[in-house]
Amino acid sequence: MEIKNNINLKDHLTMRLGGQAKYMVEINCKEDIKNAYQYAEDHGLKVFILGGGSNTLATDKGFDGLVMLMKIKGTEVIAEDEDSITFKIGAGEILDDIVKKSVEMHLTGIEAMSMIPGTIGAAPVQNVGAYGQDISQTFVSLEAYDTNTKSFVTLSKDDCQFSYRHSIFRGSAWGRYVIHHVTITLKKGNPTPPFYKQVQDTLTQDGITEYTPDIIRETVIKIRTHKLPDPEINPNCGSFFKNAIISKEKLASLQKDYPELKGFKVDEDHYKISTGWLIDKAGLKGHKLHQMKVHDRNALVLINDCATSYESLAEARDEIIQIVKDKFDITISQEVLEMS
Ligand SMILES: Cc1cc2nc3c(=O)[nH]c(=O)nc-3n(C[C@H](O)[C@H](O)[C@H](O)COP(=O)(O)OP(=O)(O)OC[C@H]3O[C@@H](n4cnc5c(N)ncnc54)[C@H](O)[C@@H]3O)c2cc1C
Repeated sequence: MEIKNNINLKDHLTMRLGGQAKYMVEINCKEDIKNAYQYAEDHGLKVFILGGGSNTLATDKGFDGLVMLMKIKGTEVIAEDEDSITFKIGAGEILDDIVKKSVEMHLTGIEAMSMIPGTIGAAPVQNVGAYGQDISQTFVSLEAYDTNTKSFVTLSKDDCQFSYRHSIFRGSAWGRYVIHHVTITLKKGNPTPPFYKQVQDTLTQDGITEYTPDIIRETVIKIRTHKLPDPEINPNCGSFFKNAIISKEKLASLQKDYPELKGFKVDEDHYKISTGWLIDKAGLKGHKLHQMKVHDRNALVLINDCATSYESLAEARDEIIQIVKDKFDITISQEVLEMS
């Protein structure tokens, strides 16, 4: 285990911004996790676990502690029957590599999650998902280092309390567990409709009536390539803002002016609406501000156009929030987590 000093975080974050990590260590096995925590404890350092850095931001001050860079590899078949295969996957494996492999094996369950950046270890954190699939649907369990008890524990699906883009890891257990590996079960054979509307529309447009995991993957890649910027070319973190939750009355009043606005019921009194729609209607789609840019095909995505400092991002974010507030009297908020 080699602990390095003063490492540029922007090289590890897909937004390509942020200062330095005081210390950084690659995690390749269970022992590394334990030793890194011991080192942090001995030196009074706070710890942050980093996977692919596609859902994480750092300020220009960087991180005054130890960043554990998750690199644990390995995919193992641990059970198989007529209908399914169960895999144990190291937290540092790249999610899209696993999706690709599963499709090649003619397995269904995660093919609609093609092209989502990041590691499998981060997938349970926000119950990562797209186009009608999320990790909770195939999830069996995970093994993690519990920093409270200093021991490895197995957490079941119930323990993780998955919900839409959420789990205990983003909530009550924030910072408590280091996920070492994830176990998922995938089904043999073809996926069956109904598919997510945008996927089905594209399949229909392309005249496809036979559905295989491979075809769904290709279709999703086609949609995503059109809709989302490639972080390698245009640094970004995917959806930058959370979708807005508003009152029933507010939705009704907005729909008077914008009958096309859809609301998705959250509870009796509240509805979720698209923040991308709000930003678009506020005239900001494709707009450049403070060296950042609102993506011209998906207003929920904020691109680092040519910013070199987190300050530019913060200014752009605050200006977008204010413009949306002035137009709709709705306060939108950031989805992407910051190192702290
Ligand atoms: C272009 C683009 C498109 C995207 N599309 C989607 C999408 O369709 N759906 C979606 O859900 N997300 C999407 N995202 C967001 C992102 O890909 C996911 O959140 C992904 O799971 C992040 O993985 P990561 O390894 O990069 O996580 P990181 O950013 O490195 O970490 C994210 C969080 O997980 C924690 N974490 C990471 N690894 C571990 C571990 N082993 N143990 C404990 N905690 C850990 C970190 O501490 C941090 O809090 C997109 C991002 C981009 C840039």
